[in-house]
Amino acid sequence: MDIEQMEVGFMDVFCYLVSCPRTKEALLIDPAGDEDRVVERVKQKKLNLEYIVNTHGHMDHTCGNAKIKELTGAKIIMHELDDQMFNSPQGWERARQMGFTPSPSADINVKDGDQIVVGDVSLKVIHTPGHSPGGICLLGDGNIFTGDTLFVGAIGRTDIPGASMSQFMKAIKERILTLPDKTIVWPGHNYGIRPSSTIESEKRTNPWL
Ligand SMILES: [Zn+2]
Ligand SMILES: [Zn+2]
Repeated sequence: MDIEQMEVGFMDVFCYLVSCPRTKEALLIDPAGDEDRVVERVKQKKLNLEYIVNTHGHMDHTCGNAKIKELTGAKIIMHELDDQMFNSPQGWERARQMGFTPSPSADINVKDGDQIVVGDVSLKVIHTPGHSPGGICLLGDGNIFTGDTLFVGAIGRTDIPGASMSQFMKAIKERILTLPDKTIVWPGHNYGIRPSSTIESEKRTNPWL
């Protein structure tokens, strides 16, 4: 599995280009700005972009969906709860008011336990509600993409509509911190400390856990 981390847009979002070195099939996690640069990278690596996968429906993570889909034909994958909540007429209106490009509705809805496959790469969906109802983490080959669930040294906000602190802490403690210590953590934002971490390091140093 090849992982390329790219910081995009004006919200310090980390977008990930994940691909299979053998088949050149790829997926993009949270495209959220700088779409031309991202698509150029896909072309340079001669990849076939199959899917856009959103860790959750917040517009700072989905604002690149429309353009990437238009340029590449990739299908959008999101958990159904966030697809319903954010990819709706009210969600689209809110996105436009805030200056973001709304995301089209997802082509494919996933739920806990589903596998997203590109070539030899398989990412397992782990539902981690709490920051948003349909937040997911993606686990594959000793790596976990944590979106706004777990950052390096921090966790996502729960003081926003659709959030739940108690659900969130339960999901993080039972579903994420129970993974093997050496699992590499790839967060959804660059909040400055380090671009990635491990479960062991977060358990030991993250003040929110
Ligand atoms: Zn978020
Ligand atoms: Zn975010």
